[in-house]
Amino acid sequence: MCGALRASDAGKKAVLMGWVNRRRDLGTIIFVDLRDRTGVAQVVLNRELNAAVHDRASVLRNEYVVAAIGTVKLRAADTVNKNLATGEVELVADEIRILNESKLPPFLPSDTALTNEETRLKYRYIDLRRDVMQFNIELRHKVAKAIRDYLSEQGFFEIETPFMTRSTPEGARDYLVPSRVQPGTFYALPQSPQLFKQILMISGFDKYFQIVRCFRDEDLRADRQPEFTQIDLEMSYPQPERVWEVVEGFLTAAFKAAGSEIKTPFPRMDYDEAIRLYGIDKPDLRLPAMTNVQSLFKEFDLIELNTDPALPVAAIRIPNVGELSRKEKDDISASLQLKSKVKLFHDFKRLQKMFPESCDKIRIATDAGEKDLIVLIAGSGERWRVEDRQIAPPFYSKANIEARRNKGRVLSQAEIEVFQAAGQVRLELARRFAERHCAFKKTSDPAKDFRFLWVTNFPMFEWDEGEKTWMAAHHPFTSPHEEDMPKLEAGVESLHDPQSELSAVRALAYDVVLNGTELGSGSIRIHRQDVQSRIFRALGMTDEEARARFGFFLEALEYGTPPHGGIALGLDRIVMILAGAESLREVIPFPKTARAVDLMVDAPTPVSEAQLRELGIQVKK
Ligand code: ASP
Repeated sequence: MCGALRASDAGKKAVLMGWVNRRRDLGTIIFVDLRDRTGVAQVVLNRELNAAVHDRASVLRNEYVVAAIGTVKLRAADTVNKNLATGEVELVADEIRILNESKLPPFLPSDTALTNEETRLKYRYIDLRRDVMQFNIELRHKVAKAIRDYLSEQGFFEIETPFMTRSTPEGARDYLVPSRVQPGTFYALPQSPQLFKQILMISGFDKYFQIVRCFRDEDLRADRQPEFTQIDLEMSYPQPERVWEVVEGFLTAAFKAAGSEIKTPFPRMDYDEAIRLYGIDKPDLRLPAMTNVQSLFKEFDLIELNTDPALPVAAIRIPNVGELSRKEKDDISASLQLKSKVKLFHDFKRLQKMFPESCDKIRIATDAGEKDLIVLIAGSGERWRVEDRQIAPPFYSKANIEARRNKGRVLSQAEIEVFQAAGQVRLELARRFAERHCAFKKTSDPAKDFRFLWVTNFPMFEWDEGEKTWMAAHHPFTSPHEEDMPKLEAGVESLHDPQSELSAVRALAYDVVLNGTELGSGSIRIHRQDVQSRIFRALGMTDEEARARFGFFLEALEYGTPPHGGIALGLDRIVMILAGAESLREVIPFPKTARAVDLMVDAPTPVSEAQLRELGIQVKK
């Protein structure tokens, strides 16, 4: 193995097989860097020692596959290559065999400058020969193996579930497979093994896992692929904490396999708190949380600023950014494209002049240092005037403001909008000024580099502004909180009312988040048929529809279903973070482009008329 050659091998005979990574012809001496999966070793061909072999080497070209047979020698001290693991030795060849030639590749694995991604994906087999890709794929193997080993030790069985099945609702479109035997019918590829893993709990396999491919037809982004791999698991009788413990266990094993010791248990945060503090359900804890500084302004000052005094004012602090230039301010406003519902204040100095007392308090409340940037986001006054015209003037009377302030535990839609806009601004500032705050720089301290978090107690329903209805925020098998069940009953009638009690129903759902990326989601499931039917109804499904889509499952629930719960984490994302890669395509051997195309095999493609006929399918031109 090329990469394994060491000084201790000096004097030994060796056979190296691999690709020609580079050939340097110095006349009497030819150096060939031979590469295989383990690394690169230098082979020397000296005309004076062996003219025939030297001659043969002169025809070698990049990416030829070669066997070199010879003796390992220590290099002279001044030719040792410290950048190479094998740099102390070389193989002095007395025989070279060309096992196969190579056309001139469109790019070389040894190129330091990367070619464009389309070419890389078209010639993926060459791209995968590159060091980085070899490292990433090996890392992927190690991580998956560590997870498998850990879960097996904990008594989990890896059990396969079908790919040709029926729709599993995970919020995406299905990929369909037409049936030839029963024309006009289709299998759906699983968006996840959700229903099968629940059925496995009903079947008595109380600890299941699977490292499994899932298929979702959705609009792709940098961190999405139409087929991706989940670490999927389910257990019987767990409290959420038990699921979290298992996940923390296998993540510890996975990160260890990649060389990082992480600390458990991970911190936990309610969804509402995540929104209040970070404006998002997947907080990046590497930068400070936001602070609601509404109460530090006088109501009249908020009105003067043309903001809504009944809504929060989120203060965002980004450390060490310093003063913003005029251009930076303009760029930020332009790139954010904030909705008219919120107002951005990025000139804290100006605010300080207008409201010195409040701003001093904000500095203290946000714990701001001299060089920290503070930006405020508030609800816009326009909207308040337009939306609340029915309120008797003057709008700004203390009583009116007081009446409009939400005092509930659950955030109002308007509050969520302010916090979410602020969360978006926080992330944009964090991205823009990464060089100055340095919070994203790797420190080699895993406690700083990997900020894990459990986000819990998600709302059960989300308001869909387009459809004017409440929708399931998770898949419909997620259990509500026991104590919120009555609200569910009351809310069914008000599916189309944004003020419905459904807004306050919490789900026994949880997400595991790392550095602002959602790694996985799970929940405790509904295990009673009557509750499941009620949830389907609450989602606007008639009993007939529910039976048509999930009849088999509703029936299974009636045959002694143990309480159960689980989770699924994205393996690709985990490996991407561990590899420090920018895109999932860097850690998936054969990925698809943003247009869901495999450029190497050229899929998808049209199929023959005969195939279509057999399937009873006609394609509309
Ligand atoms: N099936 C869910 C998903 O794919 C995960 C789970 O609830 O276990 O997101």
